[in-house]
Amino acid sequence: MPRAARWRPWASLAAAGLLAAGCATGASSLRSDAPPANLADAKRHVSEYVETGRYERDLAAVADQARRYLDSRVGGGGKLAIVVDVDETALSNLPGLRANDYGFIVGGPCELPRGPCGLGAWIGMARAEAIKPVLALARHARERGVAVFFLTGRPERMRAATEQNLRAAGYEWTGVLLKPDALTTKSAVEFKAPERRKLVEEGYTIIVNIGDQMSDLDGGFAERTFKLPNPFYFIP
Ligand SMILES: [Mg+2]
Repeated sequence: MPRAARWRPWASLAAAGLLAAGCATGASSLRSDAPPANLADAKRHVSEYVETGRYERDLAAVADQARRYLDSRVGGGGKLAIVVDVDETALSNLPGLRANDYGFIVGGPCELPRGPCGLGAWIGMARAEAIKPVLALARHARERGVAVFFLTGRPERMRAATEQNLRAAGYEWTGVLLKPDALTTKSAVEFKAPERRKLVEEGYTIIVNIGDQMSDLDGGFAERTFKLPNPFYFIP
């Protein structure tokens, strides 16, 4: 997987994670002596989940739970914050995922809608749309005086494209936290949990942490965690 290796900073999250989705991830839920699931069937199930609207409904249900918890916590004072992941949480990469028939392509240009669509080119285009229930949650938080921090495994060198995309999608924020370019981790937890700890040390109470991977949520420093569905890829 040499192309992923070239992308070391992002690779430690997206590339390694997405590649893991094709091997290690499945291993956790499949018996090693069982034949692997048929890939075409698996992709059809993912496509049906998205195209029938179930994905959107499941996203909305989780975001609604987060919103209700936020509402239960505001009004009592304090320096409150929510932490929001970016990919498949604040922003949807579905156009690129669809163009690649849910395969994973890192390098090369992004040709839409037919594909292939290289991940790096896609991110550089800054054209991802908001996941609307999460946008509503973030706007609601700011209206209630709660700080919004984006915390992403995207590397720092993607800051301009990331902020441009978040802004174009309608987000406003107190901070956007990206991974240092030189930092490599085995799990996103190693980066994200200490970043949340820093916010706590700055006096914030993180009432809601929302993301599409368990590695967005594990490691503490949040009152409640909210796991969005992601049937596309896995990030350790
Ligand atoms: Mg994500």
